[in-house]
Amino acid sequence: MRSAVLYIAGGLLVGLLLVNMKFCSGMRTMKDKQLIDQVENVEGVVDLFAIPAAAIPQKTDDYLKEAQNQLDQIIAIPDDQRTFANTANALDRVVGLSNAAIAEHIYEGLELLSPDEAVRNAAHSAVIRLRDFWVDQIMNNKKLYQAFKAYVEGNAKDESLNAEQRYFLAETMKDFKRAGLNLPDEKLKQVKKLQKELTVLGLAFSRNIAQDNRTIAVPRAVLAGLEDDFIDNLKQTDDGLYILGVDYPTYFNVMEHCAVEDTRRQLHREFNNRAYPVNEDVLKQIITKRDELARLLGFSSYAQLDIDSQMAKTPERSRQFIADLIDKSQDKVKEEIERLTATLPASVELTADGKIKPWDFAYLKAMYKKEQFDLDERIIAEYFPMEKTIDELLDIYRQFLGVDFQEVPATGLWHDDVKVIKVLSKDQGKLLGILLLDLYPRPNKYSHAAHLTVVPAVYESGKYIPDVSIVMANFPKSTPTKPSILTRHDVSTFFHEFGHALHALLGRTMLASFAGTNTKTDFVELPSQMLEEWLWDKAILKKISGHYKTGEPLPDEMIDKILKLKRLTSGSFVRQQGYLSLLALDYYKEGAQKDPYQIMKRLHEQLIKNILFEPANHFYASFGHLTDYGAKYYGYLWSKVFALDLFDEIKKHGLLNPVIGQKYVREVIGKGGSQDPNELLRNFLGREPSNSAFLKDMGLLKS
Ligand SMILES: [Zn+2]
Repeated sequence: MRSAVLYIAGGLLVGLLLVNMKFCSGMRTMKDKQLIDQVENVEGVVDLFAIPAAAIPQKTDDYLKEAQNQLDQIIAIPDDQRTFANTANALDRVVGLSNAAIAEHIYEGLELLSPDEAVRNAAHSAVIRLRDFWVDQIMNNKKLYQAFKAYVEGNAKDESLNAEQRYFLAETMKDFKRAGLNLPDEKLKQVKKLQKELTVLGLAFSRNIAQDNRTIAVPRAVLAGLEDDFIDNLKQTDDGLYILGVDYPTYFNVMEHCAVEDTRRQLHREFNNRAYPVNEDVLKQIITKRDELARLLGFSSYAQLDIDSQMAKTPERSRQFIADLIDKSQDKVKEEIERLTATLPASVELTADGKIKPWDFAYLKAMYKKEQFDLDERIIAEYFPMEKTIDELLDIYRQFLGVDFQEVPATGLWHDDVKVIKVLSKDQGKLLGILLLDLYPRPNKYSHAAHLTVVPAVYESGKYIPDVSIVMANFPKSTPTKPSILTRHDVSTFFHEFGHALHALLGRTMLASFAGTNTKTDFVELPSQMLEEWLWDKAILKKISGHYKTGEPLPDEMIDKILKLKRLTSGSFVRQQGYLSLLALDYYKEGAQKDPYQIMKRLHEQLIKNILFEPANHFYASFGHLTDYGAKYYGYLWSKVFALDLFDEIKKHGLLNPVIGQKYVREVIGKGGSQDPNELLRNFLGREPSNSAFLKDMGLLKS
């Protein structure tokens, strides 16, 4: 689950973008100043964000009117005069490149990053208004659907269109149908009602999780094993007990390092009861209403509706894929458990029938790591001073992908910490995009890591519109005595988010709806997860490391240990992710009435035989992905499997080899979402994608 936390961060934003940008945007009236015209240079990009809070509502009004006008113009065209340019492309431009579309992303960025509370609040309200507008005027606009359909079924048949344009027509028609726009009015009314109710329920589900701040209070003696620093920073009750919360850093630290079983057990129970019981009923309602929605739209289950537009295409295929991985992980899991429990630490006891208690697993693993590997992540981090690591990372992409990076001084962005990097094509020096890096924590800033596309990379009238992307993270800042240093987890996070940014920068398409990361949810984490793999290569680790005092790269002996860590519990990881994937698929399979607890219990007992099922566990109440990702949690493993398949192929040619790097750009990320990802993988690999590289890498292949 820990690694999933990171993905939520990146994935959520991407998901939101997809919701709004899958459809598209319109005609530009040349007399008005367009935000898109500002991205030719750094000054213009800086200017995009220099908007006072007080001006945001009025600007939003103007942008909405403009977008409404553009949509009305599309609808008003007589059907016999419809062309790709005046109907399909025009729609793409409204949704992807209009002032309303660009402003939405600017405000999304400001809401997450601006230090000015008034700006954050104004941006938040504007984002909500803009999203509502897209839902009402695109997803629920029957006239627009009829205009589009009239073109697709009429003039489009005789017009000469390229593959990307044809794909756009087909995908957009499917999206309209999934929104119910082909239904009779009475049914469409029901669909809209359900969607509104589901929005409210989804927000309630997330809010209940976020607002659950339950704690336990314990005496210092039962915190044995935790560092004094950590304990001293804990809040205390009036009678001197130490308060442990269910926030991730506290929870994971206690689970991994606290040597007192009862403390781990108590906190584990609280953590797995977040938002319980309040979300039990919310979840049941979500399941029921989603089932009803799916059936209204002509699908047999919500899972079927949700996966219909994905790379996997059907829940059966996702389920089969996951079940196969779980099956193949069983032997490895067994071996891992035997290894971890060979010598039990003092505070761990197995159950009478030999099972691990759920609050002991992370502790066993941490203890084993300490005993067997003698690796201290804090010492490793000294080899990753931020400046050096980022320079080397950029150098990897420079070599591998044929792009160039130029840091340019810029002032006037939302905070002085923000770095501006121009991304240029290495051969022609063409401006591909402008990247804004906001990497240090500060009060009120978004606390996870994410990538956000502000302006999509498209061809417009034969010329390049540069991508504008933000990479945000929270790495420790330097102090007078120590530079900013990154843990391995930080470095991996940076590679991951940078992977999204490169997808956005290099995925240049004709249609904005397909630019960069505007692709299938179960594909979008592939480029990012693939780049994480560079960090498991000895030569790359040597290249990007340099001790902040001596400049020495990581010693061989340390690297060898790090590389061994990869498979320490890889089987358990696959099984756990597989279990969560099946849980989501089961909640959203056929049937309006579900008992979330019984389904979870049954799955656990079926799949996780060597870990005790805790009857007081109600984890599903805080399984936040159930709303955002719906049935698609499988997407993490799915995209990781194919990421490894591509990585394996690339590695054969060399991780810095520009020939394979360019091929990867040309045939995979360069296509954005303009082609079925199944085809992209097949083209690149020259064969059907397979899970062998993943199985081998995770140590799951039987020898
Ligand atoms: Zn991601």
